[in-house]
Amino acid sequence: MAVDFQPDESCASRLDDADPLASFRDEFHLPVDASGSPLIYLCGHSLGLQPKSVKKCVEEELEDWATLGVEGHFAGRHPWYRYHEPFRESVARLVGAKPDEVVLMNSLTVNLHLMLVTFYRPRGRRTKILTDGPSFPSDRYALQSQIRWHDLDPAIELITIEPRGSCSFLSQDDIDSAFRRWGDEIALVLFNGVNFVTGQWYDLPKVVEQAKACGCAIGLDLAHAVGNVPLRLHDWNVDFAVWCSYKYLNGGPGAVAGCFVHEIHGSNIDLPRLAGWWGNDPATRFDMPEKFVPRQCADGWQLSNPPILSLAPLRASFELFDRAGTAALRAKSELLTSYLLFLLDRLPRAIEVVTPRPPEHHGCQISLRFPARAQQIVRKLRAHGVVCDERPPDIVRLAPVPLYNSFRDVYQFAERLRQIDLDLA
Ligand SMILES: *Cc1c(COP(=O)(O)O)cnc(C)c1O
Repeated sequence: MAVDFQPDESCASRLDDADPLASFRDEFHLPVDASGSPLIYLCGHSLGLQPKSVKKCVEEELEDWATLGVEGHFAGRHPWYRYHEPFRESVARLVGAKPDEVVLMNSLTVNLHLMLVTFYRPRGRRTKILTDGPSFPSDRYALQSQIRWHDLDPAIELITIEPRGSCSFLSQDDIDSAFRRWGDEIALVLFNGVNFVTGQWYDLPKVVEQAKACGCAIGLDLAHAVGNVPLRLHDWNVDFAVWCSYKYLNGGPGAVAGCFVHEIHGSNIDLPRLAGWWGNDPATRFDMPEKFVPRQCADGWQLSNPPILSLAPLRASFELFDRAGTAALRAKSELLTSYLLFLLDRLPRAIEVVTPRPPEHHGCQISLRFPARAQQIVRKLRAHGVVCDERPPDIVRLAPVPLYNSFRDVYQFAERLRQIDLDLA
């Protein structure tokens, strides 16, 4: 994007003045310091901020429960029996799916297990799972335990592609050679959309194509990708995907997570799965039929009736995403991160940027390496009113989020970092 950034503060103000999404910031509660001043919040990759409209959405359900009791299932303003259904259109837009291919349910790791039960079916020579590194601990535990569930050895069956040499992220070459080496032994590929440490946004259509060419099933963990980067799960032919809703989706701590099942699988009621009554056709659900008849879509993987109070905040969140539009959000996100990189490159002490720099290889998150002082940097930034976080051994993660961060946030972050890092030198 050809924008002429300048290192002075007035440039940040000009960028904010020209930002068509600037007013969305006012629709969020910004966390404050002890004196009540707003913090510079760059931690949306870990927990997104609360939309002000969330409170009303939750209160409506509390009121309906208070006044209607059990009748809220059908007579409430947003009947609980089909509460998750109106979300489908918005969720489908965010992940590039058909509405029937997505469902909000459970939490991320639970959904990952449910999908692995269906899609990790080790047979004959094809027993391995291929994944990108560094891998998120919960995903690793899920994969290891599923492998053990099949009486196989995770030390042999789980292949993690790790960055090599001096490069902090995966090159296409690393990925290509893993497929060449293991292709005909892989049962399932599980890739992250955006890696949680490096911030690398993988060339997902390419990875899916490679997996398919090798005859493997492929699933995506979109924890750090959904609400962050454009996705086209249906067209890419992804078999399944899972994500959480409390990072870029601003659904609140422990919010109900999401799941995508491609329609070619969703329509197949013979696929093995772990079943519960909410996955049954709602028309016959209360007849309690002897035999489980799954809905012929992603809903067929639901187990229980959903926690309405944890779904309610997502009504507020998706309304904001629908209003802002994914294209405008992505355009602002690219501007925010390129402005951030511009300012980082002008700091007096050179800082290593871990995240790949081309905009098509990262979303909001930029990771920096501070050997032996990452923790100290994060603590000092917090003392100066900046919220970001640290991942061992030496990575500092920050994410300017286009829905609520401003260009001034980015400018002020860079100024404070300049001061702190000079003091530590
Ligand atoms: C945030 C995150 C999780 C969290 O899992 P929960 O089941 O929501 O607790 C798992 N995997 C990845 C890659 C994540 O980024």
